Amino acid sequence: MINKDEHFKRVVSHAKEYGYIFGSSEIYDGLSAVYDYAQNGVELKNNIRTYWWKSMVQMHQNIVGLDAAILMHPTTWKASGHVDAFNDPLIDNKDSQKRYRADVLIEDFAEKLHQKAQKEIEKARTRFGESFDEAQFVVTNERVIKYQTQQKEILERMARSLEKEDLADVKALIEELEIADPDTGSKNWTDVRQFNLMFGTKLGASAENATDLYLRPETAQGIFVNFLNVQKSGRMKIPFGIAQTGKAFRNEIVARQFIFRMREFEQMEMQFFVRPGEELKWYEHWKEKRLNWHLSLGLGKENYRFHDHEKLAHYANAATDIEFDFPFGFKELEGIHSRTDFDLKAHEKFSGKKLQFFDPEINENYVPYVVETSLGLDRMFLAVFSKALKEEALEDGSTRIVLQLPSILAPTKAAILPLVKKDGLPEIAQRIIDTLKWDFNVTYDEKDAIGRRYRRQDAVGTPFCITVDHDTKVDHTVTIRYRDSMKQERVPIDKLYDIIHQEVTIKNWLT
Ligand code: ATP
Repeated sequence: MINKDEHFKRVVSHAKEYGYIFGSSEIYDGLSAVYDYAQNGVELKNNIRTYWWKSMVQMHQNIVGLDAAILMHPTTWKASGHVDAFNDPLIDNKDSQKRYRADVLIEDFAEKLHQKAQKEIEKARTRFGESFDEAQFVVTNERVIKYQTQQKEILERMARSLEKEDLADVKALIEELEIADPDTGSKNWTDVRQFNLMFGTKLGASAENATDLYLRPETAQGIFVNFLNVQKSGRMKIPFGIAQTGKAFRNEIVARQFIFRMREFEQMEMQFFVRPGEELKWYEHWKEKRLNWHLSLGLGKENYRFHDHEKLAHYANAATDIEFDFPFGFKELEGIHSRTDFDLKAHEKFSGKKLQFFDPEINENYVPYVVETSLGLDRMFLAVFSKALKEEALEDGSTRIVLQLPSILAPTKAAILPLVKKDGLPEIAQRIIDTLKWDFNVTYDEKDAIGRRYRRQDAVGTPFCITVDHDTKVDHTVTIRYRDSMKQERVPIDKLYDIIHQEVTIKNWLT
């Protein structure tokens, strides 16, 4: 078993070596926290997007799609609160010149206390064996109580200070806890400052007449400003949803962890408009639905957990994250937020236009409440890719690297491989491709021994290898090899379509 750090390094290098992800503009030494999706990466990303889109839009009669522009009227961001409040507290280390998010430094410190408490619990579990009562232990063991109380106090104080914008106290906390620069150990810190995460740009040819714009930091606002357009033109009745996928931009202070935190990324968001007072019911509904969507991919239930927010954003009355066990631990994958009527009301105020719905059932006009589901496409990519990448010990003592992507998401569904490059086998392989390519992404490979070709497809994540050999010419059968079990079967060529279809049809994944 390799450790998590080692696994993460492999994820990054495998993504590059097998044409999934490259650093942006690498020939110029790259651009920090910006990435390009390569030939296989773009297919996996498209498949994840389609899986989300179909499950949200095609499967729901009351959810429709939208593709709003990245550039929006600048008042949008005043109304949404992003101009005034989309800030992260940053701190610089004077010796190393490195910049950090002050809240993340404190959270990491608190996490260490949590881990110390966990260690005590695990030690006791080993000591007491079967008779260990964890619930009892955590409320009586002095060390565990100490660590947990400290952790809670630290996080509460930070939340209070950030809420009051008391940045001096955030710095004081860092100093009191003697938090050092994780890279150099220096404790020589600057003051904490707020930093707005929006990227600015300009519209217009001449400097004097140019208008300041922002690249959108979330896709949601494009949905809110179009709420009435969609409702009216689509004759939508509440409750209904608008779904959208698209790029968002954030000038993240510290962008580490590969595609987990990027400066240019893609979101898949759905805003569900409901009757005021019914939002918490719908919030619970979407919490369950969204978790089930993740579970449908079969990566393992133990890799997901909810993290309910105690400190709510200014627009929310309930919020949770679906966290995933990434190679660097459990972190947010998707957010589900009950956003109240904050956004629509704010846009009403700033635009002077009504954004209301007449509800014929109760004969009333109101500003709907909103429940949002917000998933990062790139984070979803990382979740799937990092769990799928495995090193397996085989019976013959060798190992293989296999990317066990859910087959519905795999970039290529089948590789068609003629056993040799002659005797008419490549032509038969080509004919198989010509029948399958209309519905499935398939590939052809004739180079190297068949075993090596299998391994190459394992590493790229192709669920099926189909080998054409001399018997094929006689009986029109081929060998189909399954990526995960490595089992091989002889099947007629005209059964291939059904076999692949059964495996990758969305119906068999979502139900
Ligand atoms: P975090 O706390 O990790 O910064 P957030 O709470 O700011 O995330 P939201 O504003 O709720 O994130 O955005 C919704 C989703 O968009 C997140 O759950 C995540 O999947 C994705 N996301 C947000 N920021 C980034 C980023 N910089 N890079 C990649 N994905 C991101």
